Amino acid sequence: MIRRAKGTRDILPPESRLWAAVEEQARSVFGGLSYEEIRLPVMEPTELFVRGVGEGTDIVSKEMFTFPDRKGRSLTLRPEGTAGVARAFIEEGLFQRPQPVRLLYIGPMFRYEKMQRGRYRQFAQIGIELLGAATPQADVEVLMALHMFLEALGFDDLVIRLNNLGDPEDRPRFIAGLKRELASHKDELCSDCHRRWDENPLRLLDCKVPRCRELMLNTTPVAEVVSDEARAHVEEVSAGLTALGIPVQSAPRLVRGLDYYLRTAFEIVSPHLGEDTAIGGGGRYDRLISDLGGPQVPGIGFAIGEDRLIDVLPSGFRDRVLGVRPVVVLPAADGAETAAMKLARSLVEHGLEVRNEVTGRSLRAGLKWAAKVGARAVVILGPDELAVGEATVRDMDSGEQRRVELERVAEELTAQD
Ligand code: AMP
Repeated sequence: MIRRAKGTRDILPPESRLWAAVEEQARSVFGGLSYEEIRLPVMEPTELFVRGVGEGTDIVSKEMFTFPDRKGRSLTLRPEGTAGVARAFIEEGLFQRPQPVRLLYIGPMFRYEKMQRGRYRQFAQIGIELLGAATPQADVEVLMALHMFLEALGFDDLVIRLNNLGDPEDRPRFIAGLKRELASHKDELCSDCHRRWDENPLRLLDCKVPRCRELMLNTTPVAEVVSDEARAHVEEVSAGLTALGIPVQSAPRLVRGLDYYLRTAFEIVSPHLGEDTAIGGGGRYDRLISDLGGPQVPGIGFAIGEDRLIDVLPSGFRDRVLGVRPVVVLPAADGAETAAMKLARSLVEHGLEVRNEVTGRSLRAGLKWAAKVGARAVVILGPDELAVGEATVRDMDSGEQRRVELERVAEELTAQD
């Protein structure tokens, strides 16, 4: 037997319905705010991520699926969505459209990570990007959109954690201060932190090792050393969200695994997954487009991990989606097949979910099968019914049966809804 590649998953029905429903909800909420879908390649030139996400990040240094094509060009399966959006924004000239540009993406991402709950090598993200607006209002809209989406799914216990990473100009000062504060404890830091110390010191704050974490708690938060402009920006975002009744938690040591974020940086955490397994995250990236060779266009966005989101989906939404039960159409007479197929077509056209019996089961076996697949009703086309242009509609919960004219079956079944 050939098994799926490590870290990939098969999403089978009916679970796949949840994925479709979540994506539909995303299109509806984000679409309502004019975020339009952009469909991008899953493979990009490796250089895009090296320059975009940052060479010193875990994602680029350890987690990419990188391979040469047949001509020796280095390609990478995208580990995240924003770099590709930025590339397309530049390459397709989206900066020439009326600004700002609002984009939505949904699709698979790839990271070579150690497997654990909520961590896969192929996973899906739903993300939005707002490009061409540098105001705090843009951040507020993006976070409001996130909040609306999560509310539409029925979440009421998710927390948005918000930090201020300042501008790139603030960073050397912050990092120098951080290193000064940690210097006397440097030998207590884990080996990963020793590597981060030189390669990506901001990520020191993100270490999960208990002793490192303890030491970080005593350091000065980045938000305290940022410029007045950066401070005012994030304070306005925070105030804007509060005014909208959207709860945010200040997270002074939140940093993200991608280098491009500045000022506003945030994560969404669920009490069911813990703070180390965020459902989504994002932030502002005003230098990314220009760093990739494009014009000076600011941006802000986030990505939600769809696998994790579905893992903790509220039961109300889950039950509503999975609770849809089919109507079985059961031809139980010689020559009933065409009538059954016509009826199935008409029921579907009336918005019902139909499951045809096409294996030639007898009436008895067909009813048993209908119960197994969770049918709410079975429409039986037996010889007697067929002779008079009728069908028997059997309610699978009550066991009640009624003869109904073929043309009225759809009406009868939709009336029960
Ligand atoms: P990031 O692009 O690292 O900010 O990740 C954004 C979101 O994508 C995370 O909060 C997760 O929900 C999801 N995510 C990231 N990496 C993985 C993974 N390896 N497996 C599943 N979900 C992931």
